[in-house]
Amino acid sequence: MIHIKNALICDGTGREPYPGEVLIDGEKIKAVGPAPLGDLDAEVWDAQGETVTPGFIDSHRHCDLAALYDPDFGEIELSQGITTAVMGNCGLAPAPCAKEHRDELYDFLEPCLGPAPKDSFFPKVSDFMGALGAKKLPLNLGVLGATGAVTTAAKGYGNVPFDKESRKKAEGYIRDAMEAGALGLSCGIMYTPECYSATEDFVFMARVMGEYGGYLTSHIRGEGNTLTESVEEVLEIGRLAQVGVNISHFKVTGLRNHGKGIERAIAALEKARAQGQDATADCYPYTGGSTTILSLLPPTVLAAAGPDVPGFLGTVEGESLLAREIEKEFDSWDNMVSSIGWERIRISSCAWEGLAGLSFRKAAEKTSLSESRLFCELCSKEQGKVGVIVMSMAQADVDRVLALPWVSLISDSLYGGGERPHPRLYGSFPKFLREYAGEKRLLPFGEAVKKMTYLPAKRLGLKDRGTLAPGMAADLLQFAPAAFTDRATWEDPKQLSRGITRMLINGKEPGGKPGKLLKR
Ligand SMILES: [Zn+2]
Repeated sequence: MIHIKNALICDGTGREPYPGEVLIDGEKIKAVGPAPLGDLDAEVWDAQGETVTPGFIDSHRHCDLAALYDPDFGEIELSQGITTAVMGNCGLAPAPCAKEHRDELYDFLEPCLGPAPKDSFFPKVSDFMGALGAKKLPLNLGVLGATGAVTTAAKGYGNVPFDKESRKKAEGYIRDAMEAGALGLSCGIMYTPECYSATEDFVFMARVMGEYGGYLTSHIRGEGNTLTESVEEVLEIGRLAQVGVNISHFKVTGLRNHGKGIERAIAALEKARAQGQDATADCYPYTGGSTTILSLLPPTVLAAAGPDVPGFLGTVEGESLLAREIEKEFDSWDNMVSSIGWERIRISSCAWEGLAGLSFRKAAEKTSLSESRLFCELCSKEQGKVGVIVMSMAQADVDRVLALPWVSLISDSLYGGGERPHPRLYGSFPKFLREYAGEKRLLPFGEAVKKMTYLPAKRLGLKDRGTLAPGMAADLLQFAPAAFTDRATWEDPKQLSRGITRMLINGKEPGGKPGKLLKR
């Protein structure tokens, strides 16, 4: 048993910290509260007046491949106090996978998930979870079924509708994921091939998932001019499939949409919630987003390109089509280039020496190419494996969303950023406490911690995590809030966070890799 004395307890429920003690018996919390527990036959842990919170839960990371293949996996996460991370987000996952789409899927995933060994191949989510479960894990991990991977495995990347046979395949893949213990289902409606799917296709898949009691989290169809319709689409999917829904990385992009655009979408979500619908959202604490160069391509270019998009952009025809389309406005698709401009789109990772870290505007000047020509060269020479950061949000909107009581904190960490990843990979959790609860006083400390603990646990259906209470898993952190800080910046992002004094995962110190694969 471990007896934590002299602590300021912040229990995750939203309550402000109070002086108290915690007793841990094996993997579980046995007692917690303000009253002294007396002298016990237990190892005493003196918290020296520092704050003790539940371990942080990041319901949105893209660590699917890093967790399996990166020997240092866990270092970045634990330095931020993350004791549970969930993968399989935005419809992107290495499983399920049909043999004939294997290389295409892994190329598509690489900017988000990072590289995989050549022999990496998981026909079903149960195979993937089996591989994960066979490893010693530095922290707790959860897996979501991903409709993008399911759709690709069922019918490929092309713009072809689901038919009876591909639906049957999709259903089988989702049942396999849920039976293996997936916590829910994610979709990436903005991405290929899901952008070709109809709302009813998602209703179909969510309904199958819902039989097992999970929830649906969605990277929505559009986050700019069509934000409200895209939120409404997910709400409709939730109502028709009768499952709880979550809007992933809730934000509005595009200079014209700042302010009013996010208010309309918030109103749509609050209306649904007032009518009793289970609808939530999450948000990361930065004003830039990170994505891949291919996601900036207009649908007209994708349609003309066929399956080999990078190859098409290497042709004269592809280059001139892109030059015509890349700065145009589209009715039902967010054109990042037209809505924020080349100067706010930064190349974060590419093989071309000297360009990573520069905006497209600056990179075009440096290479003496036009922005659209440079775009085509990068796409075709690097097979589309180029990461970009889009400085697309307004700080006031991020503040507004993060203060909403039904919004939890996430990082949306990508692991394919090479030497210049988005700083959220390294710093989201301490940054939120330091900047939003501390410096800006946007919300009280207890409420901020709730967004990193209780709220995500509830959304994920993790009944024994997220608060400090008897019977809960002993995932907990000790730190002094003033010393707990992120150090990752846009310029120098690969900097570990600092300030966690001590932590437990399932009642054990992290050195022995005491994490578990959490199943629904
Ligand atoms: Zn996403």
